[in-house]
Amino acid sequence: MRDLLMIPGPVEFEPEVLQALGAPTLGHTDPAFIALFGRALKRMREVCLAPGAQPFVVAGSGTLAMEMAVANLVEPGDRALVVNTGYFSDRMAKILERHGAQVTHVRAAPGDVPSADEVETHLVRGGFKVMTVTHVDTSTAVLTPVEALVRAARKHGVLSVVDGVCATAGESFHQDAWGADVYLTASQKAVGVPPGLALLTVGPRAMEAWRARKTPVASVYSDWAEWLPIMEAYEAGKPAYFATPPVNLVCALEVSLGQILAEGMEARFARHQRMARAFRAAWKALGLRMLPTSDAVAAHTLSAVYYPDGVDAALVGRVKGQGIVVAGGLHPELKARYFRVGHMNRVGPTDVLAAVGAVERALLAAGHRSEPGAAVAAAQASLVAG
Ligand code: PMP
Repeated sequence: MRDLLMIPGPVEFEPEVLQALGAPTLGHTDPAFIALFGRALKRMREVCLAPGAQPFVVAGSGTLAMEMAVANLVEPGDRALVVNTGYFSDRMAKILERHGAQVTHVRAAPGDVPSADEVETHLVRGGFKVMTVTHVDTSTAVLTPVEALVRAARKHGVLSVVDGVCATAGESFHQDAWGADVYLTASQKAVGVPPGLALLTVGPRAMEAWRARKTPVASVYSDWAEWLPIMEAYEAGKPAYFATPPVNLVCALEVSLGQILAEGMEARFARHQRMARAFRAAWKALGLRMLPTSDAVAAHTLSAVYYPDGVDAALVGRVKGQGIVVAGGLHPELKARYFRVGHMNRVGPTDVLAAVGAVERALLAAGHRSEPGAAVAAAQASLVAG
């Protein structure tokens, strides 16, 4: 029997998306492919609520999307402010430093976020070209108050780059309205497409900053100068070539983005919130503590939950034995002390109850004391309450 994949990416995908991925490959200059690539680009703007942005769809993973943003915006000696909420913020800092930026971190303890005031204090001091924010840090399940932060960056004339790899199309985000300059993501999480695509929507200020560079972008494959004419051509219905596009993944993306838009962005954000609330009710009923220090900073796309006393990382294997794949910890300081459950993309009430039931059975088998069925009942009550 097939296990249900509930890690924080890759996730379970819709059959129509997988069919598109498995269909005979079109030539990258086939008129049918040009038309659907053009639609996928337009849909990227709608999903990110960024009508004024330039989308980029490139073969690669989320890390490439991070590197593309940095490589195109940062020049050696530029100063960057990293709002650091964990493992993937550290990765962003590493990429920034590799591209010659001088990085300042504004950190919080694992499970928490730096306050908007603290971030603004740094922004006020001036001198930063970019500020990076991890929308949801997948290592801690912390949701950053991204709207306040990007608005502050804009106020102080600093470009904001938001890593939405574990958030895009799952967590509320209004790129244009909030004034975020770059939103970057990957295909394999709430965007609903198997791994392999680096995705960015780049706002006009960021495009302007890229155009005003004095030094060339230090990577040919990442350079927007190579990709911009390609994206523009596909949107205009014309063939173009720089590097062979991942044709089948782009076909799958076009399908998934269509499904996401058919659900509606606000409805989709609300569904992710409902599922997250049901999981939280279950963790509480089991007497488990979440890594995020409060509900206000807890992501809706995944849960990170401490093992109770007497239970260790072997729980992940026990949960798999119950038919659900969850993930272990990732934050270097706390890795062995918690597990993570992804709840993105097509996750609905049935998946929530199945996952909670599996975790509950595995915990009971590991010797944890709780009333059998209490966690499932709590999740169910939350789902019924809406
Ligand atoms: N940023 C965040 C927030 C992530 O969760 C991930 C992947 N888990 C990445 C960046 C890197 O993406 P990828 O693994 O696709 O390179």
